[in-house]
Amino acid sequence: MSSFSSKPCNCLVLKPPRPHFHLESAYVPHERLQPAKRRRFKLLRKVDSLSIFAHVPVDIFYEISLYLHPQDLLNLSRSTRRLRELLMTRNARFVWVSALSNVEGLPRCPSDLCEPQFANLSFDEHCHFCLAPKVKIILWNCRVRSCSSCLFKCFLTIDQLAVAYPKTLDILKPETIFPNVTYHNTDSSKPGKVLFYKPQVELYLRELAENDRENEDVRSSMLSKWCLAKRRFYAEVVVHSAMCEQWSRYWDHSETSCQFYDFAFTVCLVGLLAFLWKDKLFY
Ligand SMILES: [Zn+2]
Repeated sequence: MSSFSSKPCNCLVLKPPRPHFHLESAYVPHERLQPAKRRRFKLLRKVDSLSIFAHVPVDIFYEISLYLHPQDLLNLSRSTRRLRELLMTRNARFVWVSALSNVEGLPRCPSDLCEPQFANLSFDEHCHFCLAPKVKIILWNCRVRSCSSCLFKCFLTIDQLAVAYPKTLDILKPETIFPNVTYHNTDSSKPGKVLFYKPQVELYLRELAENDRENEDVRSSMLSKWCLAKRRFYAEVVVHSAMCEQWSRYWDHSETSCQFYDFAFTVCLVGLLAFLWKDKLFY
């Protein structure tokens, strides 16, 4: 039997170097890819671009993040586990503070929310209950964003609230204690309906149940102190909410109607000035 064979010796075969990326995906024009392959290519490209951050030193990553918009920080923190770990720690608080301060006219973060929560409330357009997209209704008093279908599921009317808390509790003006919103129907001639935020009502009722005492005098004293503290807190929330509402109407440039009114006002002003100075301008 001959020692030579037609099969080439393995030691003489020079293998080409292994490519660092998928050649087919890299060289086939994007529009010629099959839809499934195109989606995979898009995903690979996205993951690959985000993986750059895994190799960037942490202090440089934080330095870059200082100049980002809060919505970009939210998107980054939801993209990979590594970025979530970097951004959702107390050490990264200064990054969020800086990103929020980059937004023109946005009020400071309130004391009852942390910065990522405030960014989420202000910029992330998903319903906080069903995650429906493009939700514009922000209920600042209740610190939630809600679509219209979730509004009545997660909120109580004044009658439902009266049934919810025990009759032994004598709470005057519950609308100054329990976070609430005034919901207006499409018919603006009718008065709005006051709706109380159900999870917050349940939390407050649990607090009241813990403070419930047999002694009538002690119970009455504790209830009045509790009501005073909650009224003070809610007054601060209402003031802050009013500022946020103002910002949302006049500073947030995603509101196209405001841009239209600003443009219309500018056109009217220019027209008025041109009319007043017509002698100097046209003669
Ligand atoms: Zn919803």
